[in-house]
Amino acid sequence: MSDSEDYQDEYIFRPQQHLDAKWLNPDLQDALHDSVSLNVLYNSLAQDREIYFEARDGLVNASGVTAKLGDSGKYYCGLRNLTCTCCDGLCGPHSGCACASCAALSSDEERRLALEAKLVAPPSSVWFIDGIKWKQEPGPECLQSLMESMIWEQRIKAINTVTSCPIISQIRRLIVLCNRHLVAVLRFTIAAPSIDYLLNPVERYRHLLESFEVNR
Ligand SMILES: [Zn+2]
Ligand SMILES: [Zn+2]
Repeated sequence: MSDSEDYQDEYIFRPQQHLDAKWLNPDLQDALHDSVSLNVLYNSLAQDREIYFEARDGLVNASGVTAKLGDSGKYYCGLRNLTCTCCDGLCGPHSGCACASCAALSSDEERRLALEAKLVAPPSSVWFIDGIKWKQEPGPECLQSLMESMIWEQRIKAINTVTSCPIISQIRRLIVLCNRHLVAVLRFTIAAPSIDYLLNPVERYRHLLESFEVNR
């Protein structure tokens, strides 16, 4: 297991529209002050399959049906719910045509994985140090690479330390709950809004911060 997999920094967030009513008015005050309430709310997100830490057992699509990754790299629910005439009318299950909900799920996941792929760990600092030992005249680029590798390693160590700290883990859980509440409120107030930006972690936190600014 690489360093970057040691911590569950990012989760797959798939807020299901039919569960929005439950999140329109959650007791966030209570969750803020009482860790038991916080955990009950947070665990219900996981039980309802609105957050995942891995996609291996499938993801729930917008129709509330679990879809699994097919051989084609796309998600399929396997239901006979297609109206096209080019196939047997089944969504997948391994390749071929997909229903609208599964097609949307596949593109959401593609986007998430593309974001994740941008974070690539450099080779280890030990590897660079070994390289420098054997070089007659290690240039500044060798030191630059070593420095970048060490910064990365320190960053991972810092994140691992922080995420194992109970108070930080509680704050992170609270942010997830606020995020879920926000999605429910937005979908409720704006008819058929695009929530794409809420699935992007950076945009999600930016938006969350802005909403705190507005509410102060
Ligand atoms: Zn489907
Ligand atoms: Zn078809």
